[in-house]
Amino acid sequence: MAQQEDVFKKLVSHCKEYGFVFPSSEIYDGLGAVYDYGQMGVELKNNIKRYWWDSMVLLNENVVGIDSAIFMHPTIWKASGHVDAFNDPLIDNKDSKKRYRADVLIEDYLAKIDEKIEKEVEKAAKRFGDAFDRTKFMETNGRVLEHLAKKEEVHTRFAKALNDSNFDDLRQLIIDCEIACPISGTRNWTEVRQFNLMFATEMGSTSDGAMKVYLRPETAQGIFVNFLNVQKTGRMKIPFGIAQIGKAFRNEIVARQFIFRMREFEQMEMQFFVRPGEELEWFKKWKETRLKWHKALGLGDKKYRYHDHEKLAHYANAATDIEFEMPFGFKEVEGIHSRTDFDLSSHEKFSGKKIQYFDPELNKSYTPYVIETSIGVDRMFLSIMAGSYHEETLEGGDTRVVLKFPPALAPIKLAVLPLVKKDGLPEKAREIINLLKFDFKCQYDEKDSIGKRYRRQDAIGTPFCVTIDHQSLEDNCVTIRFRDTMQQERVPIASLHEIIADKVSMKNLYKQITE
Ligand code: ATP
Repeated sequence: MAQQEDVFKKLVSHCKEYGFVFPSSEIYDGLGAVYDYGQMGVELKNNIKRYWWDSMVLLNENVVGIDSAIFMHPTIWKASGHVDAFNDPLIDNKDSKKRYRADVLIEDYLAKIDEKIEKEVEKAAKRFGDAFDRTKFMETNGRVLEHLAKKEEVHTRFAKALNDSNFDDLRQLIIDCEIACPISGTRNWTEVRQFNLMFATEMGSTSDGAMKVYLRPETAQGIFVNFLNVQKTGRMKIPFGIAQIGKAFRNEIVARQFIFRMREFEQMEMQFFVRPGEELEWFKKWKETRLKWHKALGLGDKKYRYHDHEKLAHYANAATDIEFEMPFGFKEVEGIHSRTDFDLSSHEKFSGKKIQYFDPELNKSYTPYVIETSIGVDRMFLSIMAGSYHEETLEGGDTRVVLKFPPALAPIKLAVLPLVKKDGLPEKAREIINLLKFDFKCQYDEKDSIGKRYRRQDAIGTPFCVTIDHQSLEDNCVTIRFRDTMQQERVPIASLHEIIADKVSMKNLYKQITE
């Protein structure tokens, strides 16, 4: 665990050192849970967005995109349930004055029990060696059984308190579990209160009665309220989808884990409208397609898993998360939800406008059902960073930090490096860049030794480096070096385009998803 935390810390500082992610307003000591993307980060982020957008809009004839405004009519958030129900239970420690999410305190407590069990198992495994039987040990060891019973008891009370929105019970559970504030170490807790996660602001001048508006906490509602516009003007036939990428804002109580939980973040959401009764079939299809999309990146199939929801939101009849193994455990990156006709019906009710679809095949009108796929760009970014980050020891004892990005997502595709800064080599390097720059993001670097330059490119995940030497002027060949294997090959300049294009093309990824 400690080692994992260590990796995470290194990843965060790597992100800053190489221009991927900076804390927002850093010269003013930062702003909690808000981050800026730097020169490398923005390229990676744009590539992730393109990969998602094309997978939705390019690969599916029946999916189209929109870009709706962040500000929306305030009644939309009444209709969607966000004004009344988009809350987190919060609790303050009276001594440290620190604020926590009550549910997170209990989840952490449960995770600690798991750690204790794991420690017992590890100890026993060492003691018994090859003869160790994990299942038997878990079923018979007294201490493990005690921990498991405690976990079960806390979990049951926790689930009930959350389901009933019973904050007194939630607080009592924190007290009964003797959970202390990590800062003050005391158990001097306030009551548990509801805290709405939406940011509010005012539109118009106060003199003419300003209107309270919200910064959208999800992009999905912009799609629902445009359902009819898109369906009619695009002559869309059910089943069809509407995709959107855009900023969302949530006043998260606990800001931690870097860009995993931000107050300003970006979502990529797609709402797929289907006939009532066909939603579970489509849910299954999108669940599978979305996992394929993740796995096609080649970071390792074992790093992903589904987490099917047992407790469903009031509007959903099936829901699952796709989780990625972050340095701090398996965490949600994407949610896939079968949202029934909740949103469209609710907007119909609140707006007084009929929101229905006339199905020419069935010869009747109905409110479509919806399958939603919702993924955070920033969490996706973090999963790619975490899955690509490697520290390697090389022959001779040297080490290198290398980001083994899926080549299609790498910020820079090619570094062009003249061996020396003279004798016409820089000019030859520029010639190569001019040849390739229309298709690939290239970087020119002539400073320091070739070894150092390779290290710099490894650290930003550039899949290819080409080196120009004196011989290149005569034979028009260069040395191409492959990031992951560090192998080098002498190839004609004329063949570079083909070699690079084959590896960095998104087409290879798209093919895997549609297979
Ligand atoms: P969590 O339980 O982690 O708060 P959620 O279930 O509330 O997440 P959704 O409302 O389903 O999340 O949002 C869809 C996606 O948006 C998530 O899978 C995640 O990738 C992203 N997301 C949600 N909240 C944040 C946040 N505060 N910062 C970054 N990404 C977020």
